Amino acid sequence: MLLVALAAASCKKEVCENPFFCEWDTPFGVPPFDQIKLDHFKPAFIKGMEEELAAVDAIINNTDEPTFENTIKELQFTSELLDKTQRAFGPLSSANTNDSVQALSREMSPLFSKHRDAISLNEKLFEKVKSVYENRDKFNLSPEESKLLEDSYLGFIRNGIGLDAEGKDKLRKLNEELSLLSLNFGENLLAETNGFTLVIDNDADLSGLPDGVRAQAAAAAKAKGMEGKWLFTMQAPSYFPFMTYADNRALREKMFRGYMMRGNNGNDKDNNETAAKIAELRVEKANLLGYKSHADYVLERNMSKNPERVLSFLSEIWTAALPVAKAEAKAQQEMIDREGGNFKLEPWDWFYYTEKIRKEKYNISEEELRPYFAVNNVTDGMFYVANRLYGLEFAERTDIPKYHPDVKTFEVSRDGKHVGILMIDYYPRASKRGGAWCSAMRGQRIDKDGQFVTPLVSMVTNFTPPQGDAPALITPDEANTLFHEFGHALHSLLSNTVYSSGVSRDFVELPSQIMEHWVLEPEVLKVYAKHYQTGEIIPDELIEKLEKAGKFNTGFTTIEYLAASSLDMEYHSLTEPVKVNVAEFEKAAMDKYGLISEIIPRYRSTYFSHIFSGGYSAGYYSYIWCEVLDADAFSAYKETGDIFNKDVASRFEKEILSRKGSKDELEMYIAFRGKEPGIDALLKNRGLIAE
Ligand SMILES: [Zn+2]
Repeated sequence: MLLVALAAASCKKEVCENPFFCEWDTPFGVPPFDQIKLDHFKPAFIKGMEEELAAVDAIINNTDEPTFENTIKELQFTSELLDKTQRAFGPLSSANTNDSVQALSREMSPLFSKHRDAISLNEKLFEKVKSVYENRDKFNLSPEESKLLEDSYLGFIRNGIGLDAEGKDKLRKLNEELSLLSLNFGENLLAETNGFTLVIDNDADLSGLPDGVRAQAAAAAKAKGMEGKWLFTMQAPSYFPFMTYADNRALREKMFRGYMMRGNNGNDKDNNETAAKIAELRVEKANLLGYKSHADYVLERNMSKNPERVLSFLSEIWTAALPVAKAEAKAQQEMIDREGGNFKLEPWDWFYYTEKIRKEKYNISEEELRPYFAVNNVTDGMFYVANRLYGLEFAERTDIPKYHPDVKTFEVSRDGKHVGILMIDYYPRASKRGGAWCSAMRGQRIDKDGQFVTPLVSMVTNFTPPQGDAPALITPDEANTLFHEFGHALHSLLSNTVYSSGVSRDFVELPSQIMEHWVLEPEVLKVYAKHYQTGEIIPDELIEKLEKAGKFNTGFTTIEYLAASSLDMEYHSLTEPVKVNVAEFEKAAMDKYGLISEIIPRYRSTYFSHIFSGGYSAGYYSYIWCEVLDADAFSAYKETGDIFNKDVASRFEKEILSRKGSKDELEMYIAFRGKEPGIDALLKNRGLIAE
């Protein structure tokens, strides 16, 4: 250990031309972003891959009988350099990118995937893992070790390593075909989304549209050489405001039909065949690997475990939400009748009448709220919550290297002991991708020498930037996003595992979404929601309106989401490779659930890119699954009458946050809550049943 340290130190002085090949003497081992140049990455990636392959070979060539220690544990330490380099590259490629960074990403991507295959399809390595797996009873493993072993073994099986030569060949062809079809689905959808526009040349047809929406449409028209006209598109920032505000019903219908027919126009961009083929090949692949359906294959790795459980879960919520959606439809019909409309409510009317009713009942303007949501105050609010729950302290540090000057860095500690580093990067810039996310530049772990390694976490958002001299004033939605990402950050910061093999998609949003429950709690708002100029605390009347507005139109939002989730599950629960007729299949599925004609699924088959060209097949349900968990978990606090109850918080930390990916997630949840999650808390939160 001492020798290694000396060697590293001398390396640093004399030959440290590439920081990745030297020990980092930065505070807490944060990547030395001030010294790392783009040119340093590629040699480190290459060397990292070589080192990993050599380490894997060493495991394979070990002539001792395979054990957990000499195989599974060793595999945890084969990729130190590669891991460190990739994690330092992450913030650059996502939040501080440029053409050269992107070119390097593209150059490395096939090399990385080849590298991964060289390990995950390595027969000799699998023989070792399989031997440990089959003899697992001999090794007296801890629960964490057992889970890691099982996940490692399954990882190989799921990649097809157990197949014979013919089977492997078939799998490779299926994978290639599926990836081309997914790409094709996405490209068709993009073309169809861009292909439909509505051009307005008569300003009477703009009736109802707010000035901002008109200005945006005028600018869009001008950019296409149609000065003096207004252009509307299928992009969300254009489509939804039009559907919400346009008084002209015939034009709303036109826009709606353009939207819901994407990929279904019988032209060369039609996605019917593509979707059907993807569903068919996925069953074929699942069957080949020994699974009943694609959903069985996917869900095996999720908390839910099997499609039957997901389907019955979705139908329970459906049953509660449908009557609420019907009542919402009725209220809209009444408004139409009251206004002498003399027509039946249709899907292209929904957003429009919902907005009218919302205005009548809970009108709050964003501008009225913003002054109470200065970004620094909201940040203080979330630190306050973490302090009350977990005793964490946050101190800003300015002596730590960062990947961009805008980043703010905090040292997190508890009882005077260092916990980790948190970086926050708030505002948009050209080099940053959109959205909000949280990632770890170094995860918590126990290193090879048995030392506890603390995490380095970064949160990235794209909030309304500061205007003039005023601080950045964000919206309650943005505050919610900040708390959400902070929940992911806490999951990393409070992790305390020896081995972690990743968190399931249908569990990973529990730690983040639960934090959203505190953001608008009156007790918390009164701590942070202070007017940025006067210091006045947000008035009770605004708090109440905010709460009520949150429960409005939830029958609709729940049902359109569940309709899409059910459609996803129906396609992926097929047990035989048949080519369905997409239109008939979708209709039959929706009729089975009893979807009302005023609502369509949030995504129809031919533009459901989450499941046909993204990674959410048999997984779109995860959002509401996690919401059930977070609502049920938060009610554990509510039941005590104290949203900062220390016992509940320490149980949540011990049973859930600290065990990140190291234990079966249903077991974790039951250990925290004493029972399986129920859906009642979610139904109450969404206002679908009475409190
Ligand atoms: Zn999230």
